[in-house]
Amino acid sequence: MKFCNQCGASVEQRVPEGDNRPRHVCTACGTIHYSNPRIIAGCLPVYDNRVLLCRRAIEPRLGYWTLPAGFMENGESTEDAARRETLEEACTEVNIQSLYTLTSIVHVNQVQLIYLADMPTPDYGPSEESLEVRLFEEHEIPWDALAFETIRQVLRLYFEDRKQQQFPLRHVEINNNAFNTARVHD
Ligand code: ZN
Repeated sequence: MKFCNQCGASVEQRVPEGDNRPRHVCTACGTIHYSNPRIIAGCLPVYDNRVLLCRRAIEPRLGYWTLPAGFMENGESTEDAARRETLEEACTEVNIQSLYTLTSIVHVNQVQLIYLADMPTPDYGPSEESLEVRLFEEHEIPWDALAFETIRQVLRLYFEDRKQQQFPLRHVEINNNAFNTARVHD
Protein backbone atom coordinates (compact mmCIF):
# COMPACT_ATOMS: atom_id res chain seq x y z
CA MET A 1 0.00 0.00 0.00
CA LYS A 2 1.36 3.40 -1.02
CA PHE A 3 -1.54 5.83 -0.70
CA CYS A 4 -4.35 6.36 1.79
CA ASN A 5 -7.77 5.33 0.45
CA GLN A 6 -9.40 7.97 2.67
CA CYS A 7 -7.49 11.07 1.56
CA GLY A 8 -4.96 10.05 -1.11
CA ALA A 9 -1.88 11.10 0.86
CA SER A 10 1.08 8.75 1.18
CA VAL A 11 1.19 6.14 3.92
CA GLU A 12 4.10 5.03 6.04
CA GLN A 13 4.83 1.83 7.95
CA ARG A 14 4.94 2.39 11.68
CA VAL A 15 3.70 0.99 14.96
CA PRO A 16 0.69 3.06 16.05
CA GLU A 17 0.50 4.10 19.69
CA GLY A 18 -0.88 1.30 21.82
CA ASP A 19 -0.23 -1.26 19.09
CA ASN A 20 2.61 -3.74 18.84
CA ARG A 21 3.23 -4.24 15.15
CA PRO A 22 3.84 -2.05 12.10
CA ARG A 23 0.80 -0.87 10.15
CA HIS A 24 0.24 1.30 7.12
CA VAL A 25 -0.56 4.70 8.63
CA CYS A 26 -1.60 7.75 6.62
CA THR A 27 0.87 10.61 6.98
CA ALA A 28 -1.91 13.19 6.52
CA CYS A 29 -5.18 12.00 8.08
CA GLY A 30 -3.71 9.41 10.42
CA THR A 31 -5.98 6.58 9.29
CA ILE A 32 -4.54 3.19 10.22
CA HIS A 33 -4.96 0.68 7.39
CA TYR A 34 -5.12 -2.79 8.90
CA SER A 35 -4.33 -5.87 6.85
CA ASN A 36 -5.77 -9.16 8.09
CA PRO A 37 -6.16 -12.72 6.80
CA ARG A 38 -8.79 -13.44 4.19
CA ILE A 39 -11.33 -16.27 4.33
CA ILE A 40 -11.78 -18.86 1.61
CA ALA A 41 -14.92 -21.00 1.74
CA GLY A 42 -15.73 -24.05 -0.31
CA CYS A 43 -17.31 -27.48 -0.47
CA LEU A 44 -16.37 -31.10 -0.69
CA PRO A 45 -19.38 -32.19 -2.77
CA VAL A 46 -20.25 -35.88 -2.69
CA TYR A 47 -22.57 -37.87 -4.93
CA ASP A 48 -22.96 -41.64 -4.62
CA ASN A 49 -19.70 -41.97 -2.67
CA ARG A 50 -17.80 -40.01 -5.30
CA VAL A 51 -16.14 -36.62 -4.80
CA LEU A 52 -16.59 -33.70 -7.18
CA LEU A 53 -13.42 -31.95 -8.33
CA CYS A 54 -12.87 -29.06 -10.73
CA ARG A 55 -9.94 -28.59 -13.10
CA ARG A 56 -8.92 -24.96 -12.86
CA ALA A 57 -9.40 -22.71 -15.90
CA ILE A 58 -7.64 -19.81 -14.20
CA GLU A 59 -4.29 -19.08 -12.62
CA PRO A 60 -2.85 -19.89 -10.20
CA ARG A 61 -2.46 -23.60 -10.88
CA LEU A 62 -4.33 -23.58 -14.16
CA GLY A 63 -5.11 -27.12 -15.31
CA TYR A 64 -4.82 -28.65 -11.84
CA TRP A 65 -7.66 -30.20 -9.87
CA THR A 66 -9.27 -28.66 -6.82
CA LEU A 67 -12.41 -28.52 -4.71
CA PRO A 68 -14.77 -25.64 -5.50
CA ALA A 69 -13.76 -22.81 -3.16
CA GLY A 70 -13.02 -19.12 -3.23
CA PHE A 71 -12.84 -15.85 -1.35
CA MET A 72 -15.87 -14.79 0.64
CA GLU A 73 -17.76 -11.71 -0.49
CA ASN A 74 -19.02 -9.05 1.89
CA GLY A 75 -22.59 -9.63 3.02
CA GLU A 76 -22.62 -13.40 2.84
CA SER A 77 -22.24 -16.16 5.41
CA THR A 78 -19.51 -18.76 5.08
CA GLU A 79 -22.14 -21.30 4.00
CA ASP A 80 -23.47 -18.87 1.38
CA ALA A 81 -19.93 -18.39 0.07
CA ALA A 82 -19.28 -22.13 -0.10
CA ARG A 83 -22.56 -22.74 -1.98
CA ARG A 84 -21.96 -19.82 -4.35
CA GLU A 85 -18.41 -20.88 -5.20
CA THR A 86 -19.63 -24.43 -5.86
CA LEU A 87 -22.34 -23.15 -8.18
CA GLU A 88 -19.92 -20.80 -9.98
CA GLU A 89 -17.11 -23.31 -10.43
CA ALA A 90 -18.96 -26.61 -10.82
CA CYS A 91 -22.46 -25.53 -11.89
CA THR A 92 -24.02 -27.66 -9.19
CA GLU A 93 -26.39 -26.97 -6.29
CA VAL A 94 -25.39 -28.68 -3.06
CA ASN A 95 -26.87 -29.28 0.37
CA ILE A 96 -24.31 -28.34 2.97
CA GLN A 97 -23.98 -30.94 5.73
CA SER A 98 -21.30 -29.76 8.14
CA LEU A 99 -18.13 -27.76 8.47
CA TYR A 100 -15.35 -30.26 7.92
CA THR A 101 -11.93 -28.58 7.72
CA LEU A 102 -10.56 -25.33 9.06
CA THR A 103 -7.13 -24.65 7.58
CA SER A 104 -4.80 -21.83 8.57
CA ILE A 105 -2.59 -21.11 5.57
CA VAL A 106 -0.18 -19.02 7.55
CA HIS A 107 2.35 -18.05 4.88
CA VAL A 108 -0.29 -16.44 2.63
CA ASN A 109 -2.52 -15.02 5.39
CA GLN A 110 -5.58 -17.06 4.51
CA VAL A 111 -8.06 -19.23 6.39
CA GLN A 112 -9.86 -21.91 4.43
CA LEU A 113 -13.19 -23.47 5.45
CA ILE A 114 -14.42 -26.56 3.61
CA TYR A 115 -17.94 -27.90 4.12
CA LEU A 116 -19.08 -31.45 3.46
CA ALA A 117 -21.95 -31.22 1.00
CA ASP A 118 -24.39 -33.63 -0.63
CA MET A 119 -25.28 -33.37 -4.28
CA PRO A 120 -29.00 -34.18 -4.66
CA THR A 121 -28.48 -34.91 -8.37
CA PRO A 122 -25.41 -35.65 -10.51
CA ASP A 123 -25.88 -32.40 -12.41
CA TYR A 124 -22.68 -30.43 -12.81
CA GLY A 125 -20.46 -29.05 -15.51
CA PRO A 126 -17.59 -26.80 -16.53
CA SER A 127 -17.73 -23.03 -16.15
CA GLU A 128 -15.64 -19.96 -16.84
CA GLU A 129 -13.52 -20.96 -13.86
CA SER A 130 -13.29 -24.71 -14.53
CA LEU A 131 -12.09 -26.49 -17.66
CA GLU A 132 -13.59 -29.76 -16.53
CA VAL A 133 -15.67 -31.01 -13.61
CA ARG A 134 -16.14 -34.65 -12.67
CA LEU A 135 -16.87 -37.13 -9.91
CA PHE A 136 -14.01 -39.26 -8.64
CA GLU A 137 -13.94 -42.56 -6.81
CA GLU A 138 -11.25 -42.65 -4.14
CA HIS A 139 -8.87 -44.67 -6.32
CA GLU A 140 -9.30 -42.19 -9.19
CA ILE A 141 -8.27 -39.04 -7.25
CA PRO A 142 -5.47 -37.31 -9.24
CA TRP A 143 -3.18 -36.91 -6.22
CA ASP A 144 -0.25 -35.73 -8.37
CA ALA A 145 -2.34 -33.17 -10.20
CA LEU A 146 -4.03 -31.41 -7.29
CA ALA A 147 -3.79 -27.63 -7.31
CA PHE A 148 -3.09 -26.97 -3.65
CA GLU A 149 -1.62 -28.64 -0.59
CA THR A 150 -4.68 -27.54 1.40
CA ILE A 151 -6.93 -29.54 -0.91
CA ARG A 152 -4.66 -32.57 -0.71
CA GLN A 153 -4.96 -32.47 3.08
CA VAL A 154 -8.76 -32.15 2.99
CA LEU A 155 -9.12 -35.13 0.65
CA ARG A 156 -6.64 -37.22 2.62
CA LEU A 157 -8.57 -36.59 5.85
CA TYR A 158 -11.90 -37.23 4.16
CA PHE A 159 -10.99 -40.67 2.86
CA GLU A 160 -9.46 -41.52 6.23
CA ASP A 161 -12.58 -40.43 8.14
CA ARG A 162 -14.88 -42.13 5.65
CA LYS A 163 -13.69 -45.53 6.85
CA GLN A 164 -15.43 -44.80 10.17
CA GLN A 165 -18.22 -42.79 8.55
CA GLN A 166 -17.50 -40.02 11.05
CA PHE A 167 -16.44 -36.56 10.03
CA PRO A 168 -15.38 -34.45 13.01
CA LEU A 169 -14.17 -30.92 12.38
CA ARG A 170 -10.50 -31.10 11.39
CA HIS A 171 -7.98 -28.35 12.03
CA VAL A 172 -5.02 -28.10 9.69
CA GLU A 173 -2.12 -25.67 9.73
CA ILE A 174 0.18 -25.10 6.77
CA ASN A 175 3.18 -22.90 7.39
CA ASN A 176 4.93 -22.67 4.05
CA ASN A 177 4.89 -24.04 0.55
CA ALA A 178 6.57 -27.31 1.43
CA PHE A 179 4.21 -30.19 0.90
CA ASN A 180 5.04 -31.99 4.12
CA THR A 181 4.63 -29.38 6.79
CA ALA A 182 0.93 -29.63 7.40
CA ARG A 183 0.12 -30.20 11.02
CA VAL A 184 -3.17 -31.94 11.57
CA HIS A 185 -5.01 -31.77 14.88
CA ASP A 186 -7.84 -34.02 15.96
ZN1 ZN B 1 -5.29 9.68 4.79
